[in-house]
Amino acid sequence: MRLRDEMKHRILFCDGGMGSLLQAQGLGAGELPETWNIKRPEVLLEVHRSYLQAGCDIINTNTFGANRLKFNSQTEYSLEEIVVPAVRNARAAVEVEGHGYVALDLGPTGKLLQPLGDLAFEDAVDIYREVIGIGVREGVDLILIETMSDSLELKAAVLAAKENSELPVFATVIFDEKGRLLTGGDAASVVALLEGLKVDALGINCGLGPVQMKPILKDILAVSSTPVIVNPNAGLPRSENGKTVYDIGVDEFAAEMADIVDMGACIVGGCCGTTPEHLETMIGLCREKPLKLPEKKERTVVSSYSQTVVIGDDPVIIGERINPTGKSKFKQALRDHDLEYILKEAVTQQDNGAHILDVNVGLPEIDEPSMMEEVVRELQAVTDLPLQIDTSDTCAMERALRLTTESP
Ligand SMILES: [Zn+2]
Repeated sequence: MRLRDEMKHRILFCDGGMGSLLQAQGLGAGELPETWNIKRPEVLLEVHRSYLQAGCDIINTNTFGANRLKFNSQTEYSLEEIVVPAVRNARAAVEVEGHGYVALDLGPTGKLLQPLGDLAFEDAVDIYREVIGIGVREGVDLILIETMSDSLELKAAVLAAKENSELPVFATVIFDEKGRLLTGGDAASVVALLEGLKVDALGINCGLGPVQMKPILKDILAVSSTPVIVNPNAGLPRSENGKTVYDIGVDEFAAEMADIVDMGACIVGGCCGTTPEHLETMIGLCREKPLKLPEKKERTVVSSYSQTVVIGDDPVIIGERINPTGKSKFKQALRDHDLEYILKEAVTQQDNGAHILDVNVGLPEIDEPSMMEEVVRELQAVTDLPLQIDTSDTCAMERALRLTTESP
């Protein structure tokens, strides 16, 4: 794979903002940007070309919100009708300019996953699988999962990419200024999750400017053995005469990004508010910089969606109360499908200082895989401790592992 090889030898450059460029060309307030893949292909070709001319190596298809929740047989355009031209517009730009990789761009579904929302995990996997199927068939070079704010949805997207293609997978998340995802994950837990899933590169995009991303990048670099991507906005946004403007200019953006490359980012680009001009200036400052591939970190961690437990330094306490062995009350709770009893055991153990919770729901007379799935899903709503899946049933193990944001 050419891209996987190139990543080992030089800094790679992603493209920048898309939405604001389309708005400048007349995209209406309520209009879905993805519909312009069909309605205004010449504009998309021009945007892609201008990023390639700026020196970008990777351009994103205009498919951030392309999924069957927004595009299906009931809507003006089907998913197929949106994604096929999106890839073709990007490919056409690469052909004209003679260089560049096309990334299939995937954003969040826009729905919350269970147990916080009502989208089932495997439905989320399926939503991504559908888009990825079209993108792969149309010949994208990599899959870029971006702006993810929930670890579980992030996992659904990466699994769909891994299970339906051999392409490189890049994944970036959106942190707040405290370095947290919307659902609570921090840098270390995101890195543990994504490294467990063996992505090719991981990092941060959107939400913040390069200045605010630096401390978060430091946290990521401290634990990541995988190349790190940084795609910030053009600073922090504010509203000026009804328009969104960003607080740093092209030169300051580029200078901050040069620092970010010096810190150890391997792949850099921009997000909201950045333009071909931002990218060109940044690339001018960064192109000759040496690539600093991350060293392999010798760490053993287990993670939940929001925290990691490091194995090795201090004693780790694993709560074993969610386990029927020798506990007649717990056995009865399993037979009675008494979730409340099981969840209460989790909360009590967390309150008493457990670091990790063992989860064993094996009883010969119950359907262990579905019980395991249900218990794991519900546990993640009441505790943020990492779970230790304890079963001899490989089907139960697989279903639990897909559903948890664990990373051993
Ligand atoms: Zn953005």
